[in-house]
Amino acid sequence: MAPTSPFALDGRLAMVTGAGSGIGRAIALGLAAAGADLILLSERDNLGPVAEEAGAAGAAVTTQLLDLADRSARSAVVERLLEAHAVDILVNNAGLIRRAPAAEFSDEDWYGVIEVNLHATFELCRAAGRRMVARGSGKIINVASMLSFQGGLLVPSYTASKHAIAGLTRALANEWAPHRVNVNAVAPGYVATATTAALRSDPARSSEILARIPAGRWAEPEDVAGAAVFLASPAADYVHGHVLAVDGGWLSR
Ligand code: NAP
Repeated sequence: MAPTSPFALDGRLAMVTGAGSGIGRAIALGLAAAGADLILLSERDNLGPVAEEAGAAGAAVTTQLLDLADRSARSAVVERLLEAHAVDILVNNAGLIRRAPAAEFSDEDWYGVIEVNLHATFELCRAAGRRMVARGSGKIINVASMLSFQGGLLVPSYTASKHAIAGLTRALANEWAPHRVNVNAVAPGYVATATTAALRSDPARSSEILARIPAGRWAEPEDVAGAAVFLASPAADYVHGHVLAVDGGWLSR
């Protein structure tokens, strides 16, 4: 019998938020390709194609619509899913960004971003982590950003939320590592998705960003998937509290 790859996820169940598009979709398909079954969450009704593709790769797929900004719904739905399924891997990918000068930044754009990017992420970590700790195994992967390290421009609530994600990842790792629960993050660089549509359509900002990326191109969502699969796998059993940049070299510049 061939030895099992330390990157294989056969028999594992992964829950991925924001799985209908962009980076979440690519991570979900990467996990399925490595052998995981999936619970996919999305706000909009857009999970059909990714569920079909993951199913064709051999994954058993459950889909769930959920607005992560809705506190009472998210707690009820997440508790129900976690009671019904033993989730081995949680990927907190859902997130949003709002752009405006800080002096004119609206309450809605401040609280709305923090609610989904930070509060919902913490609650999902807490709900899944509690069960993983009880079982003595589990992997949590949060999606951070270059703006977990840098200030960015015109996106104060996003930057605050992503700095907080890096801190939360380390704080949870410190508590849960002794229980064999790994909490880590991937920090994508500049990826061609809906989140960056405004940047990419601004010729000055777009070429400024490209000029700083040593890899010489924007990332595709698929570029981020491998790092998430690694952090979800037994190969990362001794990796705790790490924020793994997948940035084409941006931070090294
Ligand atoms: P995206 O395609 O717009 O994905 C964002 C996802 O978040 C969508 O699937 C969206 O769900 C979900 N979401 C937003 N608000 C939600 C809510 N209230 N309830 C439930 N789900 C919600 O853009 P993306 O770039 O792939 O973003 C994914 C993650 O990567 C985000 O955390 C983002 O901050 C992070 N990131 C992106 C970049 C980049 O350059 N693109 C760089 C660093 C980090 P719906 O499809 O249902 O709206």
